[in-house]
Amino acid sequence: DTTHGPILYVEDVSVSFDGFKALNNLNLYIDDGELRCIIGPNGAGKTTMMDVITGKTRPDTGSVWFGQRMNLLKLSEHEIARGGIGRKFQKPTIFEALSVFENLELATASNKHVWYTLNKSLTGEQLDRIDEVLKLIGLKEQFRMEAGALSHGQKQWLEIGMLLMQNPRVLLVDEPVAGMTGEEVEHTAELLTSLAGRHSVIVVEHDMAFVRSIARKVTVLHQGSVLAEGSMDQVQNDPRVVEVYLGE
Ligand code: ADP
Repeated sequence: DTTHGPILYVEDVSVSFDGFKALNNLNLYIDDGELRCIIGPNGAGKTTMMDVITGKTRPDTGSVWFGQRMNLLKLSEHEIARGGIGRKFQKPTIFEALSVFENLELATASNKHVWYTLNKSLTGEQLDRIDEVLKLIGLKEQFRMEAGALSHGQKQWLEIGMLLMQNPRVLLVDEPVAGMTGEEVEHTAELLTSLAGRHSVIVVEHDMAFVRSIARKVTVLHQGSVLAEGSMDQVQNDPRVVEVYLGE
């Protein structure tokens, strides 16, 4: 087993929007190095959960801890990102006019001053890391290519690569395989699986076949709290889960 106890603690978190509880006493514990899939019907609170972890939304009650010491509710969105929690949105925010390599180069920067960063020489360590990330995301041969010319799947991997340049302890990934070809889905499964161990990876995904192919542990959200948790087989055979999905 590659996990070493929890790294992320979401405890009794509630979030209301105009009296409607998007999260209702949510409890979620993510182990260091695990790959967790979060599923649940539309409106279950998945996006709100990611917004709370990344500091975009502040809960009304509850606590969110990163490791033993870092109280995420006291940190800004920017501090949380810099502190080791990366988030990949569905729509990639890569620089289309720059090469794959330059995109990764920019991602090493602590600021986003493009021209300053690109004109500064990289350290050997940074070059090694870019090389390593290019291999991980499967774009080693495309490193000179303009990012805008990449396929839809390749753009998604490049953005994951950019997040990896910051070496996050936790990576949140929102619907990574939406719109991908079968081959791209397979590569994405391999990529996310290979990241676990070194990073904790939290994947929010609707594609059940994909979830089955990667997940060791699945959390089902419903009406803002955890309905079921366990292996894909366990949760799929849980009558409460069946009922929620049939009722969709
Ligand atoms: P999911 O990602 O699982 O589809 P969300 O977290 O997006 O669920 O939403 C949970 C519930 O909270 C939904 O009913 C949604 O309409 C509501 N909600 C989310 N964000 C807001 C907001 N900013 N204002 C009002 N209601 C919101």
